[in-house]
Amino acid sequence: MSSQDNEHETGAGEARDGGPVIGESDAQAALAQARLAAIVTGSEDAIVAKTLEGIITAWNPAAERVFGYTADEIIGRSVLTIIPPELHFEEPAILAKIARGERIAHLETVRMRKDGSRFPAALTISPIRDGAGRIIGGSKILRDITERRALEAERAQYLQQLEHQALELELANQQLQDNAAELEQQAEELQATALALEERSEEAEASRATLATIVEAVTDGFVAFDDAMRYTFVNRRAAEMWGIPAEKLLGKTPREVWPAAADSPFVAMFEQVCRSQRPEVLQGDAPLLGVPVEARAYPAGGGGVVAFFTDITERRRQEQAAAFLSDASQLLASATDYETTLKNLAAAAVPRLGDWCAVDVLSDPDGTAWPPRIERVAVAHQDPAKLELARLLTTRFPQDWTRDTGTPGVLRTREPSFIPDITDAMLVAGAQNEAHLAMLRQLAIRSIIIAPLVARDRVLGAITLVMAESDRRFTEADLALAVDLGRRAGVAVDNARLLRDAQAANASKSQFLATMSHELRQPLNAITGYAELMAMGVRGAVTEEQHRDLERIKTSSTHLTTLISDILEFARIESGQLAYAPADVPVDAALADVTSFISLQAEQREQHFTHERCDPSVAVRADPDRFRQVIVNLLTNAIKYTPPGGSITLSCAITGPAQNTVAVRVSDTGAGIPASKLSAIFEPFVQVHQSLKQKSDGVGLGLAIARDIARHMAGDVTVESKEGTGSTFTLTLPRASANP
Ligand code: ADP
Repeated sequence: MSSQDNEHETGAGEARDGGPVIGESDAQAALAQARLAAIVTGSEDAIVAKTLEGIITAWNPAAERVFGYTADEIIGRSVLTIIPPELHFEEPAILAKIARGERIAHLETVRMRKDGSRFPAALTISPIRDGAGRIIGGSKILRDITERRALEAERAQYLQQLEHQALELELANQQLQDNAAELEQQAEELQATALALEERSEEAEASRATLATIVEAVTDGFVAFDDAMRYTFVNRRAAEMWGIPAEKLLGKTPREVWPAAADSPFVAMFEQVCRSQRPEVLQGDAPLLGVPVEARAYPAGGGGVVAFFTDITERRRQEQAAAFLSDASQLLASATDYETTLKNLAAAAVPRLGDWCAVDVLSDPDGTAWPPRIERVAVAHQDPAKLELARLLTTRFPQDWTRDTGTPGVLRTREPSFIPDITDAMLVAGAQNEAHLAMLRQLAIRSIIIAPLVARDRVLGAITLVMAESDRRFTEADLALAVDLGRRAGVAVDNARLLRDAQAANASKSQFLATMSHELRQPLNAITGYAELMAMGVRGAVTEEQHRDLERIKTSSTHLTTLISDILEFARIESGQLAYAPADVPVDAALADVTSFISLQAEQREQHFTHERCDPSVAVRADPDRFRQVIVNLLTNAIKYTPPGGSITLSCAITGPAQNTVAVRVSDTGAGIPASKLSAIFEPFVQVHQSLKQKSDGVGLGLAIARDIARHMAGDVTVESKEGTGSTFTLTLPRASANP
């Protein structure tokens, strides 16, 4: 402890609310001083005094311990000695505060020991006044708070730990809360699910009900079996089809219910599906139902089977109708005798198309008379008794032609008449009297279609289809079919009539030609005969001039005879009166027969004729005379239409893909034929080269006859020609198989 004045003066620097106390009496003062000195010296806290300039003036033992400086070392030095340099800047402000008489309590800062180490320190600085009350410095009580700091740090750490734990707890709590919330949510969800399930099961119930309604409503029979083939569901239609209530079936197997089930292919099929769990389809006549049925069976969950039964009576009928139409078309296409064809058609229509079928044909489709003359050409019914009844009905109660319904209406309008469902009320309304009604009822007509027979926009008759005892009804599809049939039958009738007319006309033409030819030949023979007699001088001497005239008469009558022969021949061929006697004709020999006579003609016309010989073993199957006739015809034409100096060649060859035909060719270097006329020259009376030919030539029947003959012998005559260059006519005939 210093003994300096200022230290004495400031020795009473014990902090006591404001400032130091100065004793009254010296003794008292000395005592007080000593006490004070003892306090200062014994203080646990470092006590330091400094001037306002910061010079240390007092330093107690505690300060020595704390800072490491002895009082001697430090007193008189700047207070900055014990302040770390980085905090020196605080000091002026502290000194200034003291100078203003302010106290600085509990300043926590850092101070520096003699060894340079730093320590946390808590300071309380109070101003020191002199006797006059002037501030002359400051006293500072300082405590090393390292320990406290450590404690504090420990506490802080502890607090922090606590805090951490609290946080953890909080977190755990939060998690618990979260879990709780989650649980709550799950509970809510569960509840919602339960609700939804409840709703869904209601829905499921509803849709099951809807499904049941649908299954009930479908026109198919529907049944379900469990894995032991017991009925678990039978819809109304199935129960109806089998005529047994569903309750009697449920829980039982088909074999338990139906005695015939063991033999039923349907039951066998269901059992098969039950085993294999693969779908199957079966069509057949179901004996229990008495109708054709298609059954489709599918595996159901859990090893069961569901099955649909469809009554395919109608489908079968449609299929049969289509098949019928195709048969009918073939039948009609071959029609030349339409009465027989229509009878066959009506017979084929029953019972496929209806229980009855009748076909009426107008005798004069172009006539305007009303009622028209009508002929029932065909009627078919399964039951002859019903046929008789129907005949009786039409004779006793003839057709009312003033009506616009039924057959009269169809013939008048050309539109079909269709009554799908004939009720008893309709019969009552349509009946002429009680007897008529009784007959109508007996016929039991249920459904009727009358379709017109139409061709070339004319009605030729009507086809009537009736459903009666089978209790079936016609549908729109049947109507369409009947209309189609009516059209086809109409065309067939029309064609047959046209053909019949044409044949009749042809026959009378041929007859006329034959008669005329015959009648012409008689006087012609007389002319030729008498001319020859005269030329022979039987009637007296004949002058040279008369001879020339007689020669002209002979030429003309020969020409006329040829013409008449041609016409007669053609008429015979056309009317099918020409007889053929087929034989195996060796071609080369037959050709050689005619060439002697032809080569003579060619020579007269100054033409080169060549016969290219063929294999003598080659033969054709033909009538020998007709074969020669055709060859002569072709050769004569070649000579006729080839100018002098030209050439004509006769040749033959084996042709055809199977070498089964023989072609005989007549080629010339003559006038040729324009391409546009190539097919026409085979028509009767067609002539192209009017100017070339001589008066005595034919009338254009030669090629027509030649081709007809060839075709009658399963052969043909064809031509290739170039105008101005020449022509080649080819006769092909089947090769004789006996002589290959
Ligand atoms: P026609 O010889 O009596 O007139 P065809 O029926 O034999 O009658 O012949 C019909 C027509 O074909 C002849 O008028 C002629 O114009 C033509 N024709 C036939 N053969 C030949 C041929 N070889 N060359 C050219 N034209 C021919």
